[in-house]
Amino acid sequence: MTRRLVAAAQPLARTGATSRRPALRRVVEPPTPSGMGLASDRARDRMVETIAGNGVRDGEVLAAMRFVPRHLFVDAALASRAYEDVSLPIGHAQTISRPTTVARMIELVAADLPGERRREARVLEIGTGCGYQAAVMARVFGEVISIERIRGLHEAARGNVRTQRLANLRLVFGDGRMGVPQAAPYDAVIIAAACDQVPEAVLGQMRIGSSLVAPVAGSAGQSLHRIERVGERDWRVAVMDPVHFVPLRGGTT
Ligand code: SAH
Repeated sequence: MTRRLVAAAQPLARTGATSRRPALRRVVEPPTPSGMGLASDRARDRMVETIAGNGVRDGEVLAAMRFVPRHLFVDAALASRAYEDVSLPIGHAQTISRPTTVARMIELVAADLPGERRREARVLEIGTGCGYQAAVMARVFGEVISIERIRGLHEAARGNVRTQRLANLRLVFGDGRMGVPQAAPYDAVIIAAACDQVPEAVLGQMRIGSSLVAPVAGSAGQSLHRIERVGERDWRVAVMDPVHFVPLRGGTT
């Protein structure tokens, strides 16, 4: 497949999203350990204020960040730091991304999907990690497929998301460099690990008109790239914020 990447410097339009909940969503309030409830609610409100202060504007993304209990996705020893705007270790030499980065990536791919189109959108995440970002995405989009190459993390993520009862989230074990062709094409794609270039297979699984966000490593460090598929063989790339992610690796383990 040939492809043409056209650099685009124009700023991206943001959606004025509403706070309406997706319709076909079976979401039940997750159980919280006794005593953690109110304290974690307040901590989560503060975290969302920080994220909004960092420039994330999408109301639905902020509402999803306010809902998902990040402290349940990290080791109990780190739970007290779960609502700081920092990345944290999740074992296997991997990290859960910084909350502002999670929100920003979701906002960037959701920007072209206003209102009802989000409820119908099928979205791919590459790099499930502990499942936190996938759980947030499942509150914004109609259907989320997330793939992880480390079996121990894939299984931990399964346990973590089970408490969230998200019927629209599917976790897959495998090498995400091949994408997940069974469920393609996707209305949006998020790659949560840094690559030198976005794998061809993944670009080919984007629906025309959809967008992808990925940290891409270059000579000046990593930056978020937002790639829009504008035609059968045309992708347009915009270079966004500097970031720091663990690398996208091949194979499974
Ligand atoms: N989405 C996570 C961040 C995970 S960190 C969050 O909620 O914060 C990035 C993850 O990408 C790691 O778990 C790593 O194992 C995974 N990863 C790296 N290369 C991959 C590949 N080729 N396929 C699938 N997952 C991959």
